[in-house]
Amino acid sequence: MSGSNAIDLYCKLPIWIQNTACSLAGLKMRHERYNRTFHDTLEFLCQSQWWSLAEQQAYQDEQVTRVIQHAYLSVPYYRRVMDERDLKPSDIRSTSDLVKLPILTKDMVRELGAELLSTGVPSKQRVYGHTGGTTGKSLQLYSDKNTQPHQWAVWWRHRKRFGLSLDDEFIVFAGRNVIPLNRMEPPFWRRNIPMHQTYVSIHHMTKQNMSALIEYLQKRKVKYYSGYPSAVYLVAQYMMDNNIRLIHPPDVTVLGAETLLPHQRRAMENAFGGKITDQYGASEQCGNISDCEHGHYHVDMEFGHIEFLPLEGSTPNVQRIICTGFWNEAMPLIRYDIGDLATLPSKEVDCSCGRRSPVVEKIDGRIESYIITPDGRQAGRLDFIFKDSQHIEEAQFIQDEISTVKIKVVRAKGFSSIHEKELLADLRKYLGEVIQFEINYVSEIPRTANGKFRQIVSNVFKDQNQL
Ligand SMILES: [Zn+2]
Repeated sequence: MSGSNAIDLYCKLPIWIQNTACSLAGLKMRHERYNRTFHDTLEFLCQSQWWSLAEQQAYQDEQVTRVIQHAYLSVPYYRRVMDERDLKPSDIRSTSDLVKLPILTKDMVRELGAELLSTGVPSKQRVYGHTGGTTGKSLQLYSDKNTQPHQWAVWWRHRKRFGLSLDDEFIVFAGRNVIPLNRMEPPFWRRNIPMHQTYVSIHHMTKQNMSALIEYLQKRKVKYYSGYPSAVYLVAQYMMDNNIRLIHPPDVTVLGAETLLPHQRRAMENAFGGKITDQYGASEQCGNISDCEHGHYHVDMEFGHIEFLPLEGSTPNVQRIICTGFWNEAMPLIRYDIGDLATLPSKEVDCSCGRRSPVVEKIDGRIESYIITPDGRQAGRLDFIFKDSQHIEEAQFIQDEISTVKIKVVRAKGFSSIHEKELLADLRKYLGEVIQFEINYVSEIPRTANGKFRQIVSNVFKDQNQL
């Protein structure tokens, strides 16, 4: 049965059978994610996070040597580029040697196709996946049976820092299609009992469904929430707007998959209390960065090597994230330009948590999430423009041509022409005089196919490698 047929069939089932189906899928998922490799890796990671920086770098050099050896011997693309450059595996034995290889862009991954697959991993052992395709173009990706347990071990090391365990009940707010899209009546959530998970569909988190969702949340006592920042923010904001306090607030809220914006964090702190924590990962499973208890993002050095490269035309601290993954033998990604940006601290951070792995100041998100002005300014993270505004619920910037930025605004109660003037004045101050603004008032801002919110959608910002 094809994937879409299976989804059609699932959608026609009664809710209790859908819940059973979710739990059965959960049993399989629990087995694939949380196997022996996962537990061994997690135990290792909980110790290695306290290593000195030199020890972590030595570990990375060992992994680079292993990955390069494997790629040279079994991946046609890497054999070709190394032969062309007259390189042997012995020439690349540390993270600093990686620069001898070219950067791998998303377009190259698309074009190379099977040339990036290892002949050493039989096709039936490959695990198929793909990126969400937030920019409209999805990537076909493969991993092997060890990739996912390693990725989950890194994610669970992060959760353990906040006192969470695999047996804790939690509610996740994210984009999986667990609820038929045409369903108008609650419940908009499904239980996956083996994984202690309740899945709330972000596709159904509309204004009219929010009171039913909050009523349900009031009945549940869970240890933590997880999900996309934009989805959890909707819950927090609704509670604040309606003066609702949870009877059993979660101890922790774990975020990921989208850039966490400061106003979202604040709303969650106010609405739920407890700890709010974030981590950065990607569908490509080749690099990860996680919050520590002291609120610093640390690079997860055991999972992959992250190189930070300057972004042309931007402030020096904003850097591109280039990843070399250690745990995917089926499709090794070496110096892969993941298309995300991070801001590095202006001076080295000696985090009081005691971990020595490098610290990133903040994750800026997709490279396409930048506005570029005719006079050459680049601006990402425009959320601060709304930080004090009580009158704007949500806003999205869309740039189809360099001369104009279109702004979709969902107005909150009390929005008036004064607030529009203030918004335009703030935009002018930040983006300059030579760009036009077009404001469109809308009742909601559509999410991407996988339910993600994008604050900036640029169709003019080109990949740096193509400039
Ligand atoms: Zn720290």
